[in-house]
Amino acid sequence: MVRSARRRKTVQAREVDGVLRVSIPATMSGADEQRWVEEMVRRMARRTGTGGVDLARRAGELARRYQLPAPGSIRWADNQEWRWGSCTPGTGSIRISSRLGGEPSWVLDYVIVHELAHLEVARHDRRFWELVGRYPLAERARGFLIARGLDPATTETPSAPTPVPAPPRSDSRAGRVAAASRRRR
Ligand SMILES: [Zn+2]
Repeated sequence: MVRSARRRKTVQAREVDGVLRVSIPATMSGADEQRWVEEMVRRMARRTGTGGVDLARRAGELARRYQLPAPGSIRWADNQEWRWGSCTPGTGSIRISSRLGGEPSWVLDYVIVHELAHLEVARHDRRFWELVGRYPLAERARGFLIARGLDPATTETPSAPTPVPAPPRSDSRAGRVAAASRRRR
């Protein structure tokens, strides 16, 4: 822990020789300090979680096992605008939120399967959910994500009709719309 008089607002953490070094403003209160240290430890742990996963290999295996299209590329992303994953069917590139590095592997597998299925079916229609359903834990994983507030859209249910022919490339849009409508209520 480093208190810095020069540091006014920002908190920074980095690993130095295996020790997490957290820099905070000198003016910060003890309670805030504690909160930030916990937050930084959590963030570093999340990063460690993604480091242990070979996404490309995992996606390749899942694509083979469930006969889904293999991705052109797949990588972790820290983008906070969308909650869990997105894909670009044109290029076959998939991005998985690094948040999921800290979640159980069967949940991560579900998100990968979900995005792989989007490479074949853009919309969340019946055929899409049939593809996703090849993964036996799909329903359980969705429940898990909803409970964690990670589900991109509450409208993302197999039975619900898709109200708008939304561009399906990214789950972020649906997530933002859902968040906005929740706020309005
Ligand atoms: Zn989706």
